[in-house]
Amino acid sequence: MKYYSTNKIVNEIGLEEAVIKGLAADNGLYMPNEIKKLPAEFFENIEQMSFQEISFRVAEAFFGEDIPADDLKAIVYDTLSFDVPVVNVKDNIYSLELFHGPTLAFKDVGGRFMARLLSYFVGKSVDKQVNVLVATSGDTGSAVANGFLGVNGVHVYILYPKGKVSEIQEKQFTTLGQNITALEIDGCFDDCQALVKRAFLDEGLNEEMFLTSANSINLARFLPQSFYYFYAYAQLKKMGKADNVVISVPSGNFGNITAGLFAKRMGLPIKRFIAANNRNDIFFNYLQTGKFEPKASVSTLANAMDVGNPSNFVRIMDLYNYNHTDICNEIGGATYNDEQIAKGVKETWQETSYLLDPHGACGYLALKEQLNPEEIGVFLETAHPAKFKDTIDNILGEEIEIPETLQKFMKGKKETIELTSDFNDLKEFLLKARHYHADSCFY
Ligand SMILES: *Cc1c(COP(=O)(O)O)cnc(C)c1O
Repeated sequence: MKYYSTNKIVNEIGLEEAVIKGLAADNGLYMPNEIKKLPAEFFENIEQMSFQEISFRVAEAFFGEDIPADDLKAIVYDTLSFDVPVVNVKDNIYSLELFHGPTLAFKDVGGRFMARLLSYFVGKSVDKQVNVLVATSGDTGSAVANGFLGVNGVHVYILYPKGKVSEIQEKQFTTLGQNITALEIDGCFDDCQALVKRAFLDEGLNEEMFLTSANSINLARFLPQSFYYFYAYAQLKKMGKADNVVISVPSGNFGNITAGLFAKRMGLPIKRFIAANNRNDIFFNYLQTGKFEPKASVSTLANAMDVGNPSNFVRIMDLYNYNHTDICNEIGGATYNDEQIAKGVKETWQETSYLLDPHGACGYLALKEQLNPEEIGVFLETAHPAKFKDTIDNILGEEIEIPETLQKFMKGKKETIELTSDFNDLKEFLLKARHYHADSCFY
């Protein structure tokens, strides 16, 4: 399969190159040349298949031309070693629980898949060390760090905004050591993202070291997220609830929902999507006005969605040929402020005993408001509520329990390198670190 850049200036390239590059040299995002439809037979029997079986079929449609079936199967099966159950919350609203992986958030899927894929390519042909740079507002860092931990030939640098991620999130990527380095940036998430983008475009840096991204700009991160949309559908079909399915996706950088839109293109019968935003409402505004106007991000209770310039917006534009009407026909919008999020978490807990996290709460609220009676709504519960323990404790006025997986991280010692949001600081650090890591090496 060939991949083209959304800016269409650079040439099409193959999978390996697209994954190792991350961002195209013309600053565009890579898109597959073809989105294959899955056959009717697949959808007829989908409810009898396991999550891994379904995902392997979907993965083959994207990666089957480039990776031998046995290798691809190993990558898929290793990535998806946990369940993503569909759980009824209230009436015709269901939660797709994406928080049963190692760091209890949906990004575990893409993080692990990408780590395995990159390690497959590095092991095969690239004889240098690959350096992954990733900007995080919380969950990306932990999922990528844990996905890549101990993976040969890859060093991971995580850039995160100082003081703007929860303690539990921070502990999950600052305590690991080995091939994971956390960079604490004096700035906000958008600063971190801008630094990473600039690093990829910096010629001097790229001459010295192989850099790639593990944000959802990397197609190996975002595409595998389409797997669980199929599995959600399979579970609904089993319950006899698969007609008129509406999926609500708490969205920040829009990688997750874009994977859902890909699933629909592959034939998954989803009626429509809702992109649920917090107060960072760039996409919501785009739907209303047809204008995409990035802004500085604002801090909210759903901090993994505090994104003022969503990277994957351009993929959505490309997918719909920049047609605003077509986009509005398939994707609705919603936006919630902190008060509404808090009220949503509290009331849902009181009414249904279902504990939402602040991100899932946006997805749930959007369905509550916008779902028609004949429709079945599924929101993506993108993280375990305990990842935002302080926020949830405050909202409920009681202490919630922390699952053992998270407690383990809390015991580790935080180790970070503090940097300003000046690009030259980052560059200098990376160039120095390169020698150090090359010596301590994985080869
Ligand atoms: C990353 C994240 C989101 C936003 O996902 P995008 O793919 O960036 O739109 C939502 N919720 C949680 C918990 C996240 O970690």
